[in-house]
Parts: sequence; structure tokens; C-alpha cells
Amino acid sequence: MRGAALSTPSWAHVSSVNLSEQGWLSASPNVHIAPSPNFNARPSEEISLLVLHNISLPPNCFEGDAVVQFFQNQLDFDAHPWFENIRDVTVSAHFFIRRNGFIVQLVSTLNRAWHAGVSEHQGRSGCNDFSIGIELEGNDTQAFSDPQYQALLALCQALYQRHPSLNAVRGHEHIAPSRKTDPGPYFDWAHLVQNGPWGVESYPDFRV
Ligand SMILES: [Zn+2]
Repeated sequence: MRGAALSTPSWAHVSSVNLSEQGWLSASPNVHIAPSPNFNARPSEEISLLVLHNISLPPNCFEGDAVVQFFQNQLDFDAHPWFENIRDVTVSAHFFIRRNGFIVQLVSTLNRAWHAGVSEHQGRSGCNDFSIGIELEGNDTQAFSDPQYQALLALCQALYQRHPSLNAVRGHEHIAPSRKTDPGPYFDWAHLVQNGPWGVESYPDFRV
């Protein structure tokens, strides 16, 4: 059961994307480049972990551009009362996949985006150092859309080819279990395992 009623007027059907040597997708009608200033250099070149998230701003709202504005430090914090909760938060992710399947890239995969926060994977802390972060527009209580899975699979294929050192896929909830619950119980891990480029050993076995 995926594909809740959506208000977004147009749908992307992203079947293939390509990451450049510099870690950027090529812009296209279904791929938007919206650079965020919230990044820095990775401490090493290692990129071994893919982290999946969900986000919507305000929570449960899938309209407007608040998420991208937030990641670009351009959100009007007076536009909604809930935004007061994130007024002092400076974060980013490499990618944001909208409900309609459009992909927004904010940070080059070669750089360190600020999506994981205090986190740990296989005994190593600071997952931002060695991970790529993908935000899915959504929440913990609704299924993600079919166009989002289609775009995610296309993006995963491009990441697999450009960054062959990627060998693990986790949710934010797995690397920061005391703080985070995303992408949450409605994310279809089995779909990603069955259709994505990585083998089952790359996933959290307790969810597959
Ligand atoms: Zn998250």
C-alpha cells in the first residue's frame, strides 16, 4: 500500500540518473540542484554508508518548499508556528526526494552533509563523516509514494556506480536509535532490498 493522495500537480518518473565525478547529479526536469551552504569536507575520502531519513515541514505537510529553504538557511521561521522548533538548527542532506518523485540535490556526495547528528554505525560514531544522506519527503505515519521509490532506486543505482565503497544502508532510526525514528515503520525496506543494487547483507537484518 503506497501512494497516498497527493496534491502535487506533476509527477516525475525518474528511471535513471547519473552522478558526476564531482558528486553532482545532472540537472533535468526531474532533478533540481539547490546547493546548501551546510556542508564541509569529509575527514577522509571514505564513503561507506547510506542513511535514509524522512522529513516534512511543517510536519506532515507535503506542499511548498520549506524543506529546501530550511536546508539552504532561507526558511522564513515566522511563516508557521512550528518552525520555532528549528530556528537554531543548521542541517542539510545530500538529496531530498519529494512525494512526486522529484529529486533535489543540496550537497555534493564528495562533501560531508549534516544529516545524521550524534550517531553510530558498527561501533563508529559521527556517521556524517562517511555517509551519504537521503531525505524522503514524508513522516512516520504514512506510506511513501511509488514515484519516491522509483526515484530512490534510480538514485541508489547511481550512488552504487559512483561510490562502489558504499556497503551499508541504514535508517536514521538505526544509527541514532535513542533520538530518531525516521524513515519509520512505513518505509518498505524489502522493496529496496529486492530492487536496489546492494545485496541483503548491506541492510539491517532485523528489518528485512
Ligand atoms: Zn533523519
